[in-house]
Amino acid sequence: MPDQEQQLAVEIVFIDLPVSRYFYALPSQWSGAGPGWAAAVQLKNRKTLGWVTRVLPLTEATAIANADAGKVKKQQQLLSVGRGLKPVLDVVQAYPPELFPLFEWISNYYGTPLVEVLETAVPLPAKISSELGVVRLKKKRKSATPATKDHGADSAFAAEAPEVLTEHQESAIGSISQALAAQEFRPFLLHGITGSGKTEVYIRAIQDALQRGGSALLIVPEIALTPQLVGRLHARLGDRLGVLHSGIGAAERWRTWREIMSGEVRVVIGARSAVFAPLQNLSLIVVDEEHEGSYKQSDGLRYHGRDIAVMRGKLCNAPVVLGSATPSFESLLNAAQKRYSLLELPKRATVRSLPTVEIVDLTKIKKREMASPSISPQLHALLRESLSNGEQSVLLYNRRGFASFLQCGSCGAVTTCPHCSVSLTFHKSRNRVVCHYCDYTASPAPYCSTCRDPRTVQSDDGEFDPEFGVLEHRGSGTERIVEEIKALLPTARILQMDRDTTSTKDSTEEILSAMRTGAADILIGTQMIAKGHDLPGVTLVGIIDADVGLHMPDFRSSERTFQLITQASGRAGRGERPGRVVVQTREINHPTIIAIATGRFKAFARYELDYRKKLRYPPYGKLMRVVVSGMNLQDTRDAVMQTAQLIKRRAQELDPEGLTVLGPAPAPIEKIRGRVRFHLLLKSPSAKVLSQLARELYEWKFVLQGRVQEKKEGATDDGREFRLTIDVDPQEML
Ligand code: ADP
Ligand code: ZN
Repeated sequence: MPDQEQQLAVEIVFIDLPVSRYFYALPSQWSGAGPGWAAAVQLKNRKTLGWVTRVLPLTEATAIANADAGKVKKQQQLLSVGRGLKPVLDVVQAYPPELFPLFEWISNYYGTPLVEVLETAVPLPAKISSELGVVRLKKKRKSATPATKDHGADSAFAAEAPEVLTEHQESAIGSISQALAAQEFRPFLLHGITGSGKTEVYIRAIQDALQRGGSALLIVPEIALTPQLVGRLHARLGDRLGVLHSGIGAAERWRTWREIMSGEVRVVIGARSAVFAPLQNLSLIVVDEEHEGSYKQSDGLRYHGRDIAVMRGKLCNAPVVLGSATPSFESLLNAAQKRYSLLELPKRATVRSLPTVEIVDLTKIKKREMASPSISPQLHALLRESLSNGEQSVLLYNRRGFASFLQCGSCGAVTTCPHCSVSLTFHKSRNRVVCHYCDYTASPAPYCSTCRDPRTVQSDDGEFDPEFGVLEHRGSGTERIVEEIKALLPTARILQMDRDTTSTKDSTEEILSAMRTGAADILIGTQMIAKGHDLPGVTLVGIIDADVGLHMPDFRSSERTFQLITQASGRAGRGERPGRVVVQTREINHPTIIAIATGRFKAFARYELDYRKKLRYPPYGKLMRVVVSGMNLQDTRDAVMQTAQLIKRRAQELDPEGLTVLGPAPAPIEKIRGRVRFHLLLKSPSAKVLSQLARELYEWKFVLQGRVQEKKEGATDDGREFRLTIDVDPQEML
């Protein structure tokens, strides 16, 4: 018999239980298990899978469990009196233990229980449970866990490696290699204009990391939108590459997860959640298009993939490369304050320079002078010219559908979603009105339901006035632009790229490949067309309405508009022939439009940073947003008032000087899916204070939701309870 002191126990956490930790004896055959492992144990009367978070001596565990039991009665059920802790029944390795400190950091930073982090980050499949003969406690939400897949998805994209690097590429790679050789954490901001050869820098750095025996991680905003990049990497790196994406069966996902864990796969490319890829000996992390808002998870654990990438690099002593043509202001400030090393690629890698930009002031053009409702004579002329030269064009309009709303010509009422406080978008090809928030759809009514009442519209002879209460199409969308261009240029071969045309598998790739092979002349789309696509035949980019998005109730609206238009413009002139950009606007004096016209990014950044500094918005302060929603207006208002009271009291105690609480106020979108929404915005110079508050609000959330009692098995959200969303570093203000 080993002596009592040497016997071990483990601390285990389960999802969705009010008791935060449980202790079990660890039989000696599994003495290697610890953080990184999942364990099958008896919980109450069922065999259940939980996460091991700590190994400790059995005596110590028993003492803690007893003390906990004093505090929480339920824990007592776990202690068979006189016989100590129940044993672990089986174990399975779920992720490399070296990831555990990262998960702990995330838990701390976002104020979220560790178990929530583990459930989000690690795709333990149901299969494991059945193999081990255990039940898994139900997870509340689906997490966007990754999967990998073969990518035959490519040869058209198999770009050759350029023989000679540009001088700036050389120097960027040189700096990254130094950090690789030193095996030290060093964050780099790779600020390279569109087409400057950032991808080449990533590939060389990854090759270097592999040669030194390490592994590498490349994170991109959206895998489906970057088939070209995946193809390029595959051509250059071969079988060592694993691609992680969502939308693949749990079993296969788990198989690849284990391939990565075992070291068979040494380079992983994937979206946001790939930041958790179980690579061991990770020696390089690259985040492409680091400014992208899609790196922020928008439900469940609202983590920021880029920020976690930087922390992961820090914890595993690896350089982290954040690349972008339009860096986020957070990263710019980090570079300016020398927390990040700045690497610049100020010139295009090919012979071409950046396209020339022409601003078209729409306020100066009379309606009848327009080529069509949305197309100016200038843009029309250039489109015609590039068509006759056999060149391609890309048109950006960042809204899908045909009309962004329907408005009554008599009373002005706008048709809104019955479940959300947003207008319905008219989709002509489907002949439906659609809510872009909840997907509610209906056939469009011909007349206004507000004012077209038979009693008021009847004329003297008893007939309806056919003009009264007619709903008119207002605002535009990609569908309508397509229609206008078809009428203007009947011979042009036109493609539309937005969420409506890319819902099927491979459709994105088909559209891009039609552009690459010259099977299409004009590509019209939403922000999707602005991603890093390399389409050498494109010489003209038209921004149909630069002002879309400029006035969103969000302090980042200028930053985002600038990024989007710059990225879209960057599609022009990447091949042999020079590029041109036409920007149509009604706000020629807006600083964002001026920055786009002059290409003076640094001046724009200074201007924006100044304004952020005054208001103590990021990157000069930290933000946390709290949203309370519910089905009943009065109850929800009460709930948010109570929440606000709690926050304001704690703000006084924690940091009366630094912490500002704005609100509560109705959220800009007051209702979504029938739930009324209120929000509070917290500003603080200290991330620590916000993390602390987030943690406390997490507890409060259970109180508010009346979930102090253990949740009944299988209980579903009947839509009546309150929801409290805690968003640290919010990207979304609506
Ligand atoms: P970015 O990612 O910065 O937009 P890419 O890496 O896609 O730029 O490069 C843009 C184009 O320039 C690609 O077609 C690429 O093959 C080419 N390219 C990159 N580096 C070089 C180089 N050193 N010499 C010649 N062409 C290059
Ligand atoms: Zn809706």
